[in-house]
Amino acid sequence: MRATRPEGTRVRVGGVEVGGRGFVVMAGPCAVEGAEQLELSARAVAHAGAHLLRGGVFKPRTSPYAFQGMGEPGLKLLVDAGKRHGLPIISEVMETEQLPLMAQHADILQVGARNMQNFGLLRALGRVRKPVLLKRGLSATVQEWLNAAEYILAGGNEQVILCERGIRTFETAMRNTLDLAAVAWAKQHTHLPVIVDPSHATGIPALIQPMSLAAAAAGADGLLIEVHAKPELALCDGQQAMSPEDFMTLMRRLPGVLAAVDRHLWKPEGPAQIAGAR
Ligand code: PEP
Ligand code: MN
Repeated sequence: MRATRPEGTRVRVGGVEVGGRGFVVMAGPCAVEGAEQLELSARAVAHAGAHLLRGGVFKPRTSPYAFQGMGEPGLKLLVDAGKRHGLPIISEVMETEQLPLMAQHADILQVGARNMQNFGLLRALGRVRKPVLLKRGLSATVQEWLNAAEYILAGGNEQVILCERGIRTFETAMRNTLDLAAVAWAKQHTHLPVIVDPSHATGIPALIQPMSLAAAAAGADGLLIEVHAKPELALCDGQQAMSPEDFMTLMRRLPGVLAAVDRHLWKPEGPAQIAGAR
């Protein structure tokens, strides 16, 4: 796959580029829960320097009785919050029927781990012209993950970003096992941008910073992180949400690690970058 495009695919989204030397951070709550919750969280991540705002409005929950997301009204809140803070938005599309709505409003369409092999959805995503973030399935091999991406690419949509979010192993101390070697492998063997979701990969807020820095060192093109202004009140994944303060600390530490691997936090192209300076 890499051989077909040695320079690598760059995915452009609302003025941000994923897959170049700039490292892109997507952050926000697991789910959009209401106007105030979203505004506080969006303000916090924008202030800390995030490049995209995340927020689920259709939520794949293990229990049918758990909060399932706000649906379309939540999407409207997310769009408005993104505009207010100047951040493109990323949100999950769970079903093909949701695609027209989501493709109209979201800047990146997220395919969740549980849907990685929903081939009907993948085929439909191949027909849209919006970037897709494809999460690795709960127990998917790297090859299965790449084949899932191939479904979207084969349909003619070349804007695919891979996302490692931890896999299921015998280990139970963490929610999942972050497979960073798969990130380095995918960077070396494919032309697609690869990002890491340390929130679902660990399920433990204290591990998000170390795993984010490790992902940057391993060659990831960015991060997808759950940040909630009031984690203790979250309706979804509050136990793994990063606080705004900890997110700010992470954003301050990332540049040092990125510099060691000749990368930098993404910023709009300026004369200095064009001249090759960092
Ligand atoms: C999410 O991003 O909130 C999510 C449901 O992730 P995953 O599909 O990786 O479990
Ligand atoms: Mn979540």
